Amino acid sequence: MEPSSSYEPLPASPPSVPLSSQRPRSLSTPLERLPGVGTARAQKLVKLQLATARDALMHFPREYRDFSGAHTLVDIREGEHASIAGEVKDVALRTTGAGRQMLSVLVAVVGGHVRAIWFNMPFMAKRFVIGMRIVIAGQAKKSGLNWEFSHPEVRWLAQDESANASEWLAVYPLAEGVHQSLVRTAVQAAIVHAADLPAEAFPEEILKAKSLLPIAAAIREIHCPSSHAMITMARRRFVYEELFMLQLALRMHRSQQQQQRLAPAIVIDARLDNRIRARFPFQFTPAQSRVCAEIAADLGRTEPMSRLLQGDVGSGKTAIAVYAMLATVGSKVPLSLEPAAAAGDAPDRYQAALMAPTELLARQHVATLEQMLSGKGVSVEVALLVGGQPAKQRERIVARIAAGQVGIVVGTQALVAGMAKFKHLGLVVIDEQHRFGVIQRSLLQQGQADPHTLVMTATPIPRTIAHAIYGDLAVSVLDEQPPGRQPVATYRVGPEQLDKWWAFFGKKVAEGRQGYVVVPAVEESKRDLASIASAFENLANGPLEAFRLGLVHGRLKAKAKAAVMDDFRAGNIDVLVATSVIEVGIDVPAATIMTILDAETFGLAQLHQLRGRVARGATQGICGAVTATINEPIPRIDAFVATSDGFKLAEQDLLLRGPGDLVGTRQSGAPPLYLADLLRDSSVVAEARRDAITLFESDPAITGPSWQRLRALILRRWGEKLGLGQIS
Ligand code: ADP
Ligand code: MG
Repeated sequence: MEPSSSYEPLPASPPSVPLSSQRPRSLSTPLERLPGVGTARAQKLVKLQLATARDALMHFPREYRDFSGAHTLVDIREGEHASIAGEVKDVALRTTGAGRQMLSVLVAVVGGHVRAIWFNMPFMAKRFVIGMRIVIAGQAKKSGLNWEFSHPEVRWLAQDESANASEWLAVYPLAEGVHQSLVRTAVQAAIVHAADLPAEAFPEEILKAKSLLPIAAAIREIHCPSSHAMITMARRRFVYEELFMLQLALRMHRSQQQQQRLAPAIVIDARLDNRIRARFPFQFTPAQSRVCAEIAADLGRTEPMSRLLQGDVGSGKTAIAVYAMLATVGSKVPLSLEPAAAAGDAPDRYQAALMAPTELLARQHVATLEQMLSGKGVSVEVALLVGGQPAKQRERIVARIAAGQVGIVVGTQALVAGMAKFKHLGLVVIDEQHRFGVIQRSLLQQGQADPHTLVMTATPIPRTIAHAIYGDLAVSVLDEQPPGRQPVATYRVGPEQLDKWWAFFGKKVAEGRQGYVVVPAVEESKRDLASIASAFENLANGPLEAFRLGLVHGRLKAKAKAAVMDDFRAGNIDVLVATSVIEVGIDVPAATIMTILDAETFGLAQLHQLRGRVARGATQGICGAVTATINEPIPRIDAFVATSDGFKLAEQDLLLRGPGDLVGTRQSGAPPLYLADLLRDSSVVAEARRDAITLFESDPAITGPSWQRLRALILRRWGEKLGLGQIS
């Protein structure tokens, strides 16, 4: 990942090196060469992907602590963050009964005293001298009559305070074994070394007109804010810049695509539409019909479709994918595109690809398709392309795809995108895509023609974010469940209710329902396997001993996994014990009751996906989320129990977690801070987007002389990812 490559100084303006400077200053100076960092520390910083001065400058704080010392004794609250100024009165280092060394510093403040304590950090004692003025900041706890701060942050006040001293202390994202103070040291060293080196992207008049901080000031202020208002100013500048550049890049990309790339026009007339719909065992819901019409309109054009379909778990997204794919393979490739075809040959048909996140889901899709296409009068070849296949078989399939014989290819993303070369690819569907990157769309561009692309997700992205990361991506929403669906009855089950829950679960299964028991497994590691196995034993010899059980987890061979799923689907297994391999997309309508063990270990979106497995038919699903306690509130679990609407839950999730995970910033190569603030900064998002569009419309190739630096930065940063090469 290269989050900050855009800050490289451009050749147009070589950094001015002060004569006094000993070493050449550069943004690419390795951190180990900076004073105060050194080799050992630099090695640790690699864990945060911090290697150079530039990396450190662009490692933005996660939050800030109030260090103003503005609190007084009366406004300190138990357990809350406070910062208070005073004078050191006493410094004592002693060994406690438990053999720990405790440093205790007594500080006289207005109206009384507070105490700061540190355990096992005797070296800290030297830093406190009686009579010094300091500010301590941290969580306050009442101890006897005094407020006590355990391991607080300290700011030493000098008579003439150093200009760097900030009242707002930056708190950085960390990694294992990398402490706050280490990151601060590196960032401070990088600021001294190189804060003035990054190139300014914006022309001066824009900085003025938009009240944006110049880059060097923004870097200083984001790390060492001189006031609270400056934090906002600095963040605003980076968010604005990031989104402005991204918008321009997307526009440039788009206009280039429109000029160069053509997709096949796949025209769906009433006859084809009827023929396809007749293949489904159900009527489309009005929402499904509407979305199909939106897609049909896109497919009919030669501009490649880029459409995102959002629909809650169980809303019937697969049907949409199948509709679009059948339309694609039902369309003939014009003979003019097939120079080699002899007159009288049957014309080729377009091909479609469906990419699933797991092999299990890919296999399920193939089964669904084969069942639908089993009638007479159709001859669409469906092929599966997954890792679990013998290499020979895969080669055969790849050859048939290249020859245009396979109509629909279903597989995992890695394999389909990595192996298949299509003869006439018309449509790509990406199913259950819950993380989004800017580059996702250009997957599977082959030759001169672009396929149409449909990305399906159960995770709604707020419109501002969708716009920010995709530009003008079209969005369809399935806002309706198939008829007869009822919300899953969801319960939180504490240890005290567990016996009763299993009795209930058993009764329901005895009455004829099939069920799932979900066990957590984070990495499907050896240790996880052992705990899955023992959980299975406990169930098989305990609450579920009366039933036929099956077990699936990620470590099982693909074939074995598929066999267990087939058994479950066929009703030969009553209860399937599973890890979250069943989370996404698995569709067994007869399974209508679920127990999620250790529910706290799952994320909210994941819980909702899991629960979606038992909401796939007319019978009301039941779900028990087993937690270690019942009385303590767990916001995620309580939201899960209270709400069955996936879109509402997604909003909650964003509030609880922030959107960082959702947009997969790590994958898209974008600096975390910018995107992590899209929600909070939605007004800046909109402003940057508007301004970028205005600039683009007046100067589509960005030729204005004052924009050359920005243009170069955009190309450096996004050029390769978005294929903007020819523009430069
Ligand atoms: P998701 O949106 O979660 O991918 P699926 O496409 O797997 O949902 O559909 C969930 C279930 O609903 C499937 O069993 C599917 O056959 C069924 N289904 C989809 N559309 C309809 C409909 N219009 N009427 C009845 N059942 C439907
Ligand atoms: Mg699905």
